[in-house]
Amino acid sequence: MIDYLPAHVDRSPGESLESWLDRIADANSLPVRLLLPPNLPIQHLARLLDRSVAELNAMTWAGYHRSVVGRARQRTPTWRADRHQWICPRCTSTTSAPRRVEWQLALHPICRCCSCYLVQADYSHPRDIDVHPSVLDMVTQLMDLTTTAWTNRNHADRLRRVRRTTTLIAQSLDEGWPPRHVPVPAIDPSAARLWAEHTAPDPLVAVTLLAATAPLAPTQLARLIEDGWVRIGANPDVPISWLPKRPFTVPPPPRLRHPLEPDKKRLKNLRDELRRLQARFGLGAQHVPATLFVGTEYPLPHHHEWVYREFNAVALVMLLARVDAIQASQYLHVPYAADPALTSLEGNSSIRPDHATLLRTATRKLIREGLTDYQRRRQALTAQRRLPTPILAQLRLPQAADPTISTERLALGWLWITLTRSTLTSSPWPLNSTQAALDFGQHVLDGEQRLILLEYGNELLTLASDDADRDTPKTTQQPLRQAR
Ligand SMILES: [Zn+2]
Repeated sequence: MIDYLPAHVDRSPGESLESWLDRIADANSLPVRLLLPPNLPIQHLARLLDRSVAELNAMTWAGYHRSVVGRARQRTPTWRADRHQWICPRCTSTTSAPRRVEWQLALHPICRCCSCYLVQADYSHPRDIDVHPSVLDMVTQLMDLTTTAWTNRNHADRLRRVRRTTTLIAQSLDEGWPPRHVPVPAIDPSAARLWAEHTAPDPLVAVTLLAATAPLAPTQLARLIEDGWVRIGANPDVPISWLPKRPFTVPPPPRLRHPLEPDKKRLKNLRDELRRLQARFGLGAQHVPATLFVGTEYPLPHHHEWVYREFNAVALVMLLARVDAIQASQYLHVPYAADPALTSLEGNSSIRPDHATLLRTATRKLIREGLTDYQRRRQALTAQRRLPTPILAQLRLPQAADPTISTERLALGWLWITLTRSTLTSSPWPLNSTQAALDFGQHVLDGEQRLILLEYGNELLTLASDDADRDTPKTTQQPLRQAR
């Protein structure tokens, strides 16, 4: 198949399969999903791309030992970072530059060619930080372990043990603890709480956790594990099986007379915390974007996370407004999907550890950024299905590459994404491709066109908030305002 495409793209040495497919699609102006259907068996893919299965495996994490990437369909923490797309701010600044296969591992959060830290692909203001030579050595030694793990069981065990230890210390890491044994940039400790079954989105979290654990000898690592267990106390936010064994030197926490189930207790703690934030900062359901974001994700998290973050936005609205899952989905205007996790929230019985961590981190992020009334933004933008003629004249939008999608719709889609911090699922055009609108705004529009659109959007929001100030009586308890 690949020979029939007009533009030919050679794969570069060490490149990941995902990157190569993206570049082929890009060079031929085709969406990847048109080029190849998703979830194609590797044998079919190999035939279509005219490559051997072994060669394709070497371009994905399937080429790594199971102590690094786990086994298929097994829920256990691994070193995979394939839920986040990491790029090098120096050598992958254009879409035609290849991304390397080892960048899909949290063991390798750096670019060795440029000696700098990787960044998230959707991070709008890329950092560009030099890597200290001792970090480079540490990463090289870790990557050597991934190779020798195939023949040396001790090396495989070490990778697993270090991974479990990182999950333990990520729960209570702060600016000073645990000590970093190689020089790494400072991080926001709350970003580390997302490191559990999956690795965290920010490459700097990965390098911080590695700097605290990887250089340690076995006895030092055991001491760190002991400290970690003492710090997290009775109720870790993650399943015990994801953590290193609690050493017998750390006494078990005192038993309560009426012990709560861990899941129930976790939900109670989260509800208490949200209640405090509601009382102190006035946090409400209207401040929840339909796609939750954390850390430095702007305007959206990586596309692999969208469905998960929308699901969790529904959960947050349920907890803040005390409504059921159907009402919360309607409020955010996202499709309702029956799910055991939402049912147990409705029944006030439990919450999954990863959901609790995400909700807590996302809520703190919303407050740190200054609360925004996303519901009012959604309402104001929903009313605008077309751009006014004077704005269109000012914008002079280019012809669309795909004649079936109007560039006006793409521009409105980009404005929706940027101002509501949500995918198009919650927009008036739920079937349009969020990625296409995002790419259009970021790569096709120039800075001036983006500014015209944003000014227009902000004008709409000002008008809408003037109307709302006139119409809404000032009460402290606001009921759920329906989206439309
Ligand atoms: Zn680079």
